[in-house]
Amino acid sequence: MWFAPYASHPEQSKGRRHPEAAAPTRSDFQRDRDRIVHSTAFRRLVYKTQVFLNHEGDLFRTRLTHSLEVAQLGRSVARSLGLNEDLVEAIALAHDLGHTPFGHAGQDTLNECMQGHGGFEHNLQSLRVVDKLEERYLAYDGLNLSFETREGILKHCSRSHAEQLEAQEPGGVGQRFLKGTQPSLEAQLCNLADEIAYNAHDIDDGVRSGLITMDQLEAVPLFVRFRNETLAEFPQARGRRLLFDTIRRMLSQQVYDVIDATKANIARHLPVTADEARLCPPLVRFSQPMREASTQLKRFLFKELYRHPQVNDTTARAKQVISELFAAYVAQPEAMPTDFSQREDRHRAIADYIAGMTDRFAVREHERLTGRSLF
Ligand code: MG
Repeated sequence: MWFAPYASHPEQSKGRRHPEAAAPTRSDFQRDRDRIVHSTAFRRLVYKTQVFLNHEGDLFRTRLTHSLEVAQLGRSVARSLGLNEDLVEAIALAHDLGHTPFGHAGQDTLNECMQGHGGFEHNLQSLRVVDKLEERYLAYDGLNLSFETREGILKHCSRSHAEQLEAQEPGGVGQRFLKGTQPSLEAQLCNLADEIAYNAHDIDDGVRSGLITMDQLEAVPLFVRFRNETLAEFPQARGRRLLFDTIRRMLSQQVYDVIDATKANIARHLPVTADEARLCPPLVRFSQPMREASTQLKRFLFKELYRHPQVNDTTARAKQVISELFAAYVAQPEAMPTDFSQREDRHRAIADYIAGMTDRFAVREHERLTGRSLF
């Protein structure tokens, strides 16, 4: 397969933390992708909330279908730009592995519970999953993924966490947060594909759930533009098919915009290797008008969907489940499986255990330990 010179070439990989012989037929990034697909954490994504709780409906996105959509969008752009599709797929499929049950409500609550014990960040937790928590191999903890995949998984990281990572692994995946450099172009692409995916599918799920209406979407210029384009071609279009066709056009235009804007950025900065691309400003980006349109859409979703009274009500109950579970395990660690209850780092073990739960397991476990049913 052909890759552009600025792509991540597997033979130039910075390698795995535990050196392994190359596989006979697969590149290191293909192998990373395969390890992720076979992991326990990946299978749990099907029962984890994106915006709607898993049990609220069968057609809403879960973290698993979201991750597949990010991988699809990412691969499509990667092929046009000559980037490494296998690396993009590996990062996309792993990017949400560290998410707690109940989406952002779960992660915020766990972070509050962990104040004074190192805090909780879902990006860092995704890295912990692939570096430590997965138990698949006899020779090491975790999945022993390549540097480039781990670099892409660690999308954000606080300075203090970056310093801790750098102390454990000098020159490793924490370093760029201290030096202010960029990750690979494949990692940059996954960040943007994540945003494109959730903006589009949250409109779809939001309308499907009845929490937002087509009329409200009049306030979103990007949506109106493609809704009008659809109606110009199909004047009779109404309802769901009008919605789907509008979202489809909006997605395509965002993908083409990223491809064109990124090609222009690459032509301006001319990185000749993947490492040179890391020293440039972020190159995988929207054009300025699309950046503004996407930000407007995000603001709309935040206000009208993520802070909808019905979502807020679920959020409040989810927070209670997580904080009461945390308190219950602090009081009686033996209520956790021995892998966790016998660890010396008590609070981190509780955070790891809770973060790994699916929505429904957290609800059941909360009922078992407190005798109360919040969902
Ligand atoms: Mg995501």
